[in-house]
Amino acid sequence: MGFGGYALGVKEFPEQFEAVSIDALWVSTPENVRYLSGFSSPEDGRVLLWPDGSGLLFTDGRYTVQAAEESSLEVVIFSSQADLDQQLSRRLSGKRLGVEADHLTLQAARRLEGLSLQLKEVSGLIEERRRVKTPAEVERIRKAAELADRALESALPTLQVGTRELDFAFAVEAALRRLGANGVAFDFIVASGPRSAMPHGRASERQVEEGDLVTVDMGALYQGYHSDMTRAYPLGQLGSRLRSLYQEVLRVEQLAVEAVRPGVTGGELDQLAREALGRAGLAEAFAHSLGHGVGLAIHEGPRLAKGSQDRLEPGMVVTIEPGVYFPGFGGVRIEDLLLVTESGHSVLSHAAKAEL
Ligand code: ZN
Ligand code: ZN
Repeated sequence: MGFGGYALGVKEFPEQFEAVSIDALWVSTPENVRYLSGFSSPEDGRVLLWPDGSGLLFTDGRYTVQAAEESSLEVVIFSSQADLDQQLSRRLSGKRLGVEADHLTLQAARRLEGLSLQLKEVSGLIEERRRVKTPAEVERIRKAAELADRALESALPTLQVGTRELDFAFAVEAALRRLGANGVAFDFIVASGPRSAMPHGRASERQVEEGDLVTVDMGALYQGYHSDMTRAYPLGQLGSRLRSLYQEVLRVEQLAVEAVRPGVTGGELDQLAREALGRAGLAEAFAHSLGHGVGLAIHEGPRLAKGSQDRLEPGMVVTIEPGVYFPGFGGVRIEDLLLVTESGHSVLSHAAKAEL
């Protein structure tokens, strides 16, 4: 296996290291390890990163061949915890070492504290860089989105009155695998009837009924990168309330998509959608934020949420996903995946939306 050890972008951080007063960063967050090294088993790897972007990938003997094949950084295979401690001590004696406070376990932090170095908690340093994708990263996300479009559309004929949500989720997943995805981006949400009032209703044993609107939130994983898309499909004739909710959410989704461009903040986009739903009396029912960045993680920066100051830049990949939810009745969400471009945006998710 192995997807090759490409370096996917500029990974120097001199100003960032300077700003938090560190000489090196101990990178343990899997997505960051993968981003910096290209190593495709990042849960079992750590990166010691220097400000000039050079560094070492530490992993164990199970990955000798794979790491050599994939890593763009020099590889150090450690044989035991004591060996790792020794290797780090030797390289870091007297230095200021940043650790990822959002990920490193307390136990791992205590062990590092035992070495002769100065520990410093840092947060979001690599994540910040990951927000703007390189062309090579965009291509992987585009490919994941394309696989998701094709898988969803090819499985759609199996979504019929009487189909269990679980069986439909499986049909979509099987189609994704057949088409060449490396896996699913997350456990698919298939929520029909009253279950569609749950924004994150995982597929259940419920059988889809006549008059249901079925929320399907899915995505593909391709060479470490994710896609994310939601569609809502009617089974037969919908009641008038559900139908008008769908039309309203679709209208607001398109409005928000049109507003995506460089310079706008995540907070401004969220507010635009919230106000538009508010004019239809639906502000209260919009129970989550408008969207999020997508990449090596399914949820990453920038945040498209109330008050978010994150400013969109060309190369960011974000979702737009307004939804409304009424417990006991049902709900609607529609989500597209977008690339922010110099002139605005381009939509990466293309599966057809139901017209009601
Ligand atoms: Zn989604
Ligand atoms: Zn999403």
